[in-house]
Amino acid sequence: MPYEFKRLPSTICPACGHELKQLPGRVMHCEYCEFKADRDLVPIQWALKRMVSLHEPRAHS
Ligand SMILES: [Zn+2]
Repeated sequence: MPYEFKRLPSTICPACGHELKQLPGRVMHCEYCEFKADRDLVPIQWALKRMVSLHEPRAHS
């Protein structure tokens, strides 16, 4: 459902869970792990991460 897609966070780093800082040009940047993505693409990164984690339930421990 696209409905759930909208609820994915755009201000939290999909890589490490740290808070993202917004840079000029709608770019979101994580100071912790250097993740950087267009603000509109951050939820997509979350969606991709979720798809991966379906195959690897405990990949991040
Ligand atoms: Zn990060």
